[in-house]
Amino acid sequence: MARYTDAVCKLCRREGEKLFLKGERCFTPKCAFERRAYAPGEHGRGSQMRRRSRTSDYSRQLRAKQKARRIYGVLEKQFRRYFNIALKKRGLTGLNMLQILELRLDNVVYRLGLPENRRQARQMVSHGHFIVNDRKTNIPSMLLKPGDIIKVREESKKNGLFKDIAERVEKKTCALWLERELKNLSCRVLRLPERGEIDGNLNEQLIVEYYSR
Ligand code: SF4
Repeated sequence: MARYTDAVCKLCRREGEKLFLKGERCFTPKCAFERRAYAPGEHGRGSQMRRRSRTSDYSRQLRAKQKARRIYGVLEKQFRRYFNIALKKRGLTGLNMLQILELRLDNVVYRLGLPENRRQARQMVSHGHFIVNDRKTNIPSMLLKPGDIIKVREESKKNGLFKDIAERVEKKTCALWLERELKNLSCRVLRLPERGEIDGNLNEQLIVEYYSR
């Protein structure tokens, strides 16, 4: 299972904006982007200035696509595959694409508020802590659908990771398209997320344009 393993803060610095990939740390002065708001590497400062002056359509489409990929932690091949699925579905391709990304199992676990960030959510899933519709799974990219039920495995509830988690995450909000039951550490996908419930900072239209070139 291929995944990005380099320091995530570099991704924010490369994109030239905060992508909030780490959780609470992103809101503190420790945030790497607050301290070094330029691209990583030897020529970082210069390349950031050059990037600001680049405004071609292609450049904007590429950046929109890369940003979404980095936020959801999806590699290029998989991202393109999602675009092809979105294209074949009815409705707006861009919205379909975002809904597919939101319905990945690792993202749903993140939206439940259990982990700090999507990386942790991905790790929780790949370590086999979840059951989807009564079947154990360890596939972060598994695509869910309305009606699916996700639970933390009974064995995993004894794991330090989930100890007292209900109290710890009680104050964290959960996506409205999910029904969370902290008592049982379970959740049901109620419906597809609406556009207003997905990161408003993403530009799905530019992503569609990128792949439609
Ligand atoms: Fe990005 Fe968060 Fe790292 Fe700041 S702390 S650079 S927002 S991932």
